[in-house]
Amino acid sequence: MRLVLLGPPGVGKGTQADLIAHEFDILHYSTGDIFREILKGSSELSGKLAKYIDKGELVPDDIVSETIRRTLSNDGTKSKGWVLDGFPRNLVQAKMLDDLLCNVNQKLDFAIYLRAHRDILVDRLASRRVCSKCGIIYSLQINPPKENSICDECGGELIQRKDDERDTILKRILIFENEFAPIRHYYKDEKILIEVNGIGNVNDVFNHILENLKSGQERRN
Ligand code: AMP
Repeated sequence: MRLVLLGPPGVGKGTQADLIAHEFDILHYSTGDIFREILKGSSELSGKLAKYIDKGELVPDDIVSETIRRTLSNDGTKSKGWVLDGFPRNLVQAKMLDDLLCNVNQKLDFAIYLRAHRDILVDRLASRRVCSKCGIIYSLQINPPKENSICDECGGELIQRKDDERDTILKRILIFENEFAPIRHYYKDEKILIEVNGIGNVNDVFNHILENLKSGQERRN
């Protein structure tokens, strides 16, 4: 099973990708997480990445493509499959992924698009806090920590991602909206696009994804 999970920032791609990966016993790769790990170090690449990520802008395609190529060739091609979260972000990246897979006689199975309205996303992202130690995500609105700014699980400090500040959030959503239409057409033409309402209870959204994947697979067989 090879999947990409598409949707605006804050729609819950990470959470759903985790559930999907667990359900199908496949790997979950998030380009955002991979970049944030690199940012923790102090290399030439981390300096370059920070310039884009902190401002909420897309990292250049050549860096992203190289990251995906390396990630998938490390273990992705040997596993039962993967779900990519946060990639592709534009048409160039979508075509790059197809080329990469074509070279190893593989194909993408489905592109899942989680829909959500812009206004809901701004509030969601502005209230998001991440544990600086274990990476668990909290929402000050929906699942706040028991103690202010402290992770319930590991006691780590909860921080706000720089790109979750209000001005940057809106910029990220607008970039998504501009880049997404061509990707949507591309996957629709390939007949692998699944669209699901991303707003609602996490388990309900997940069940809708599963139902759609199942009917997509049945249609194909
Ligand atoms: P995310 O965690 O997916 O919201 O990603 C955080 C940031 O990493 C984005 O705002 C971009 O700056 C960068 N990023 C992640 N994935 C990509 C991608 N596929 N293409 C370009 N930039 C990306």
